[in-house]
Amino acid sequence: MAPTAFVSGATGFIAQHIVKQLLEKGYNVVGSVRSESKGEKVKKNFGSNFSYEIVEDLETEGAFDKALKKHPEVTVFLHTASPITFHAEDNEKDIILPAINGTVNVLKAIKSSAPQITKVIITSSGLTQINGVDPNSAPEDTWNSISYERAKQDTMSAYVGSKAFAEKAAVEFVEKEKPSFSVSSIHPVLVFGPQAYDSEAKGELNITNTFISGLLKLKASEGAELPKSDGRFIDVRDVAAAHLIAIEKPTNGLRVQVRSGGYTNQTLLNILNKNFPELDLIKGSPTENLVGDDSANHSKSREYLGMNYIGLEKSVVDTIKQYLEANK
Ligand code: NAP
Repeated sequence: MAPTAFVSGATGFIAQHIVKQLLEKGYNVVGSVRSESKGEKVKKNFGSNFSYEIVEDLETEGAFDKALKKHPEVTVFLHTASPITFHAEDNEKDIILPAINGTVNVLKAIKSSAPQITKVIITSSGLTQINGVDPNSAPEDTWNSISYERAKQDTMSAYVGSKAFAEKAAVEFVEKEKPSFSVSSIHPVLVFGPQAYDSEAKGELNITNTFISGLLKLKASEGAELPKSDGRFIDVRDVAAAHLIAIEKPTNGLRVQVRSGGYTNQTLLNILNKNFPELDLIKGSPTENLVGDDSANHSKSREYLGMNYIGLEKSVVDTIKQYLEANK
């Protein structure tokens, strides 16, 4: 019988790629979604080996108990659901607490209601692995040091904190409860790349792809200026592939970072101008400021995954081609 995986937050940008790759590999997938209409929408793309359970709120005590009791065939749980937004009314309530309590609810539900599950993989973040002190320290062994009070102060800090606090809560759960399942984490840096299905590219893109699509507003004819920005990126298809590798291969406690390389706004703009000249975008300074921050040696993760990561140009072109096509 085909194995069955549970994916929390199956409507998400990354989760849809994970589900798609699982289905392609012959898994059956049960996903959690927040409403029936969202479930029906993704099911149209996923097909008959996908079913969904409604979990309205990650934070509700026992949120995942019922869903897991209904599916004794599930043997692996991928926890991707977590708030990722730059618009919150209350940073603690809307971002930090759902991340922490959602993770703990998943682990508690598996321990009490799904003893057949042997493996949990949490989609954490490269941001939990930045310590701000030594940029060359190995990310696999590093934690960000943001305090709870600092994290509440703005949405970006709340997100950075939420991912670290949630991951730490999982580590504590394992230490205290000594569950029979293993818990590991995948740490993507900023994720670019096309939506898993063309229909999902209509309208606004997911928040992290707006780092690219936002540049499409910089029309040469309007004399716009290029804002400075840089960082590290990974393509979403590689993020999903890393989750599948972690299902099949023990991670032995490695907090697996997934990172292709660095980018700057100028490198993104150069790629857009080369591949989509008809968009008539500003040029910026095409030969300056091209190398994004790709410091911190993540060779342990690279070796573990053994993947050839998708490069920036392909990631950007695939994203924008799909977006322009969907929004013609
Ligand atoms: P996304 O598209 O916004 O997906 C987030 C998922 O979580 C959605 O399914 C969303 O449901 C669900 N969710 C959010 N808050 C919830 C709540 N309070 N209760 C129930 N469900 C909730 O974002 P993504 O980029 O795919 O991110 C997925 C995971 O990867 C997150 O854990 C994120 O922290 C992590 N990550 C993302 C990046 C990145 O650059 N994108 C980088 C590193 C790590 P709805 O669809 O109903 O809103």
